[in-house]
Amino acid sequence: MSLLNPDEYPLVSIVVPVFNEEAVVPEFHQALTEAISDLPFALELLYVNDGSTDDTLSRIKALRQQDSRITLLDLSRNFGKEIAITAGLHKATGDAVIVIDADMQDPPELIPELVREWQNGYDVVYAQRTHRKGESIVKRTTAHFFYRFIKRVNKIEMPEDSGDYRILSRRAVDALNTFNEQHRMMKGLFAWIGYKQKAVRYQRDPRHAGTSKWNYLKLWNLAVDGITSFTIAPLKISTYLGLLTASCAFAYGIYMIIDTLLHGNPVAGYPSLIVIILMLGGVQLVAIGILGEYLGRVFNETKRRPLYFINEYAPGEEASARLMSRDFSAHSPK
Ligand code: UDP
Ligand code: MG
Repeated sequence: MSLLNPDEYPLVSIVVPVFNEEAVVPEFHQALTEAISDLPFALELLYVNDGSTDDTLSRIKALRQQDSRITLLDLSRNFGKEIAITAGLHKATGDAVIVIDADMQDPPELIPELVREWQNGYDVVYAQRTHRKGESIVKRTTAHFFYRFIKRVNKIEMPEDSGDYRILSRRAVDALNTFNEQHRMMKGLFAWIGYKQKAVRYQRDPRHAGTSKWNYLKLWNLAVDGITSFTIAPLKISTYLGLLTASCAFAYGIYMIIDTLLHGNPVAGYPSLIVIILMLGGVQLVAIGILGEYLGRVFNETKRRPLYFINEYAPGEEASARLMSRDFSAHSPK
C-alpha cells in the first residue's frame, strides 16, 4: 500500500481497547475494514491489548501481517478499559481519533457519519444509543439512574446512553492527554473538556461473542469513580445528613425532658434509645465511608504513579510516517 501524503490527507486513528477478545477480534477487524473502506483518509488502526490472557495478542499480530495500517500497543498487564483508552489516546498519531469497543456493540458502520460531523467542525462527536438490546433490565435501570444522578450533581453534563464510542479532534485529544489522574472515567472527561460536541444516534446491538468484562462490582466502582472524580457533593450531603440527625436528636431530647417533667419517668424508651443509637451509628459510618472514598483517591493520586506500562509498541505504516515527519519537523530549524 502506498503512503498518502500527510499534507493532503488527514490521518484518522481508530483506538480499540481489547481484553480477552479472541473470539471477536478477527470479526471486528473485518467489519471495521468494510466500514472504513470508502474513507478518503490515511488510517491508523490502533489495537490496545489490555493484558489479555487468551489468544487476542497473537490474533492482532496475525492481522498486522496482512494490514499495515494496524498499530499494536501491548500493555504490560490488564489496567482496565479506562486506562487502555488513555494509553491509546496518548499513542494515537491521527488528526482525529475514534474510540470504539471491539465487541461490535459500537457499530463500525457509524464511523463515516462520525467523521463527517468532525469535518463539519465538531471536536467531539459521540454515538448515542436509542435502544439497549440484550442487556438486562437491572443493568438498564441502574445505568439510567446513574446518568440521572451524575447529571444532577455534576456541573458538567455527561450525555446519557452513550458509551466511549466517539470521534475526537486533535485538540480534544491533546486536552485529554493533559489529564494525569489515576481514577478516571473517560466518559466524564470527554464531557469535561468542553469544545463543540454533538450526538449521533444509533441502535445498540447485543455483543456478538464473548462476555461483558463488566460485573456489577466493577460497574459500581466505575460509578463511584465517576461521582467522586467530578463532585464533592456526597461530602456535603453527609454533612447535612449529620446536621439533620443531630437536630432531630436535639429536638427529641427536649421533648423527653418535658415529657419526664410532666409525666415522671416510667423507665420506658429503651427501644427508641436503641433506634437512635443504631441510626446515628449508621449515619456516622456512611459519612466516614464517604470520607474514606475521597481520602483513598487522594492517597492514590498523591503517589503519582505512572498510569500504565507498555510491553510493545509497533506503529502501523501511516503512523510511523507521521511520527517520523513530526520528529523531523521538531529537529529542523524554524
Ligand atoms: N476492555 C479492556 N479492558 C478491560 C475490560 C474491557 O480493554 O479491563 C475492552 C473490551 O475488550 C471491549 C471494551 O473494553 O473492547 C468494552 O468492554 P465490555 O464489552 O466488557 O464492556 P461493556 O460493553 O459491557 O460496557
Ligand atoms: Mg460491550
